[in-house]
Amino acid sequence: MTKHIFVTGGVVSSLGKGLTSASMGMLLEQRGLRVRMQKLDPYINVDPGTMSPYQHGEVYVLDDGSETDLDLGHYERFTSGELTRDCNYTTGQIYLSVIEKERKGTYLGKTVQVIPHITNEIKSAVKRMGGDDVDVVITEIGGTVGDIESLPFLEAIRQFSLDVGRENVLYMHLTLVPYLKAADELKTKPTQHSVGELRKIGIQPDILVCRCEHSISREDREKIASFCNVPVDAVIEEKDKDFSIYEVPISLVDNKLDDLVVQRLGLSNAKSLDITPWTELLHRLRNPKHEISIAVVGKYAEHKDAYKSIYEAIDHAGMGHQAQVRIGRIQSADIEREGAERLLSGYHGILVPGGFGERGIEGKVQAIKFARERGIPFFGICLGMQCAVIEYGRHVIGLDGAHSSEFDKDSPHPVICLLDEQQNVTQMGGTMRLGTQPTKLDRHSLSGKAYGCEDVDERHRHRYEFNNQFRGQYEANGMRFAGTSPDGGLVEIVEVPEHPWFVAVQYHPEFKSKPLKAHPLFSGFVEAAITRQKLRKASDQPAVSQG
Ligand code: GLN
Repeated sequence: MTKHIFVTGGVVSSLGKGLTSASMGMLLEQRGLRVRMQKLDPYINVDPGTMSPYQHGEVYVLDDGSETDLDLGHYERFTSGELTRDCNYTTGQIYLSVIEKERKGTYLGKTVQVIPHITNEIKSAVKRMGGDDVDVVITEIGGTVGDIESLPFLEAIRQFSLDVGRENVLYMHLTLVPYLKAADELKTKPTQHSVGELRKIGIQPDILVCRCEHSISREDREKIASFCNVPVDAVIEEKDKDFSIYEVPISLVDNKLDDLVVQRLGLSNAKSLDITPWTELLHRLRNPKHEISIAVVGKYAEHKDAYKSIYEAIDHAGMGHQAQVRIGRIQSADIEREGAERLLSGYHGILVPGGFGERGIEGKVQAIKFARERGIPFFGICLGMQCAVIEYGRHVIGLDGAHSSEFDKDSPHPVICLLDEQQNVTQMGGTMRLGTQPTKLDRHSLSGKAYGCEDVDERHRHRYEFNNQFRGQYEANGMRFAGTSPDGGLVEIVEVPEHPWFVAVQYHPEFKSKPLKAHPLFSGFVEAAITRQKLRKASDQPAVSQG
């Protein structure tokens, strides 16, 4: 029988519920259990695909093409269970399917209501995750307890334990225990209130994970335990990590969270824990051999979650090469005002990520020109690749006014144009070229060598593509098409062979990078940046006299 863990959050948002859930999933997997992860989001958008990165951070794309919450990125990076469309439901999606059923007459003339119809729909979304091949399903409820919009989800997970048996369900509540400087004290009251809210709804949490800046004393843990009606060993401290998010699983182990979960759910098939690969990873992180800086030049650079998976993938590659990577978040619009030289010199690598909309495009093109002309390792992703093609067209081939038809409908040289299948699309949500698509690589290219194979599957999210009418001209002028769709019809990777490392891809490799297994292209990019840093350092050294 599949066991279910529900993770809720209280007091404030942004407590890192996603990371804590993912870390717990990882620990249970390391104990030999088969885990699946799910997120339920209380907002009304059907998926985050139509939301601005300013609102919601990155949209995380799965193999099956679903556009999901960025917490699913944490799940994929920390655990190995397959993620599909079923792993992320929003209020919008739940209502959409209930309304569709109502229109089809499924409810046989009944009045359709939040309870039971919406709550039943939520419960079936959770039940679908279970099965013979899964030991534990971890379902994270987005938002904060006390929000009006989370109520149907909380009611559904309350009922869930009645349906499957209380012994098969564990409620974990993440809360904040703030430190008040003036009083020099940790405050437990917000936690008491938020657990009070949960209990009012009928949910008694089994485990409290308390985020805090300072260690919680035994006395405070006892106080929380007694007011919130949980045993004191179920009050788990999760202290802020100023070093790395990869410390989270280790600190949960130190606080025996995995033992507690295994014991509470009676997971008798759990093995003892081995997290050696993670402790080794942290060791590499703490003892870097190289120090490099990478500039990420994007439209949403000031929003820390907008390029989440890209920053993570750079870190994974850094850990793989034992390099400490400083990431500079550069707004592409600033480059238009201040120039590439001023903002980008000193970086050992430049990355231009994906995006939509015209603002900052010229800044990206200038950044790419700077990287290409100065021999700085360059990595372009999706829109970053499209900008690389525009830059090469304008400045190497001499195609004045070369552009993407996304931004200039009347460009004399539309080197990036709309995919054929996109010509008649008018609906916004879920209508791009999405999800896993195969790419055939040129074995002799940088990408071919980095992957070490000829066929790869990578995730896509775009409407525009390289315009094949220009292929001959680009090839004649030294650009290499290092990867295409297997039928050769779509350009997936471009490279500049005479440059030390210039690779741009139409897909999103960042979604498939893992802490213990950096993505080959990110790894190649970081390696090239380390080489550049060493060369620069060598050329800065005064020549030592041999006499
Ligand atoms: N806006 C571009 C397109 O739709 C790039 C998309 C992206 O970078 N994800 O093709």
